[in-house]
Amino acid sequence: METGIRAVRKKYSKKGINMNIFKRDATLHDFKWENLGDIKEGRGDLGEDMPVLVYRLMQYTMLDVLTKDFGADKANEFFVRAGHLAGKEFAENNLDLKVDFHKFLANLQTALRDLKVGILRMEAFDPDTGNIVVTVGQDLDCSGLPITNETVCNYDEGFIAGILDSYTGKKYFVKEVDCWANGDRVCRFNGSVVD
Ligand SMILES: [Zn+2]
Repeated sequence: METGIRAVRKKYSKKGINMNIFKRDATLHDFKWENLGDIKEGRGDLGEDMPVLVYRLMQYTMLDVLTKDFGADKANEFFVRAGHLAGKEFAENNLDLKVDFHKFLANLQTALRDLKVGILRMEAFDPDTGNIVVTVGQDLDCSGLPITNETVCNYDEGFIAGILDSYTGKKYFVKEVDCWANGDRVCRFNGSVVD
């Protein structure tokens, strides 16, 4: 059986889809969900999963480099912004945004568990203001980190805000108030509508 990029191109060209892969204007610098590629096809026997260690290695070395060049506040801001983009794209490409809120949250909970991001729970929701409190247990970004008395899940803050923005059409500000790195067992996020 034919494998690799040639087979993928053939598959898509049969459907009349121009993958644009060799065009000069194609770039990975503007994020698009499709640019994550055909992971199943490309990874072959190694498969779609990998150890959390590898994810954290990239995340925390990136944090180091950005902090040294831009300072801690700016580095955290970059992580929030990247997380927000991820949350928005994740919601729009993977979740049904038309179901009612409780169904949406249940689907999100299942998706995050299946992807091994963490165990999401809603602690509070005010339907009048839209304000929400969620916890994430066994969090991908921080569970098991040394206690440094800080909240470190800036990427998650953005990720959750991006998901809430996409579902509600409103703008959310999400702040982590408890974190494993702060001595808690779960991460707790307060979300509030800013406009
Ligand atoms: Zn955390």
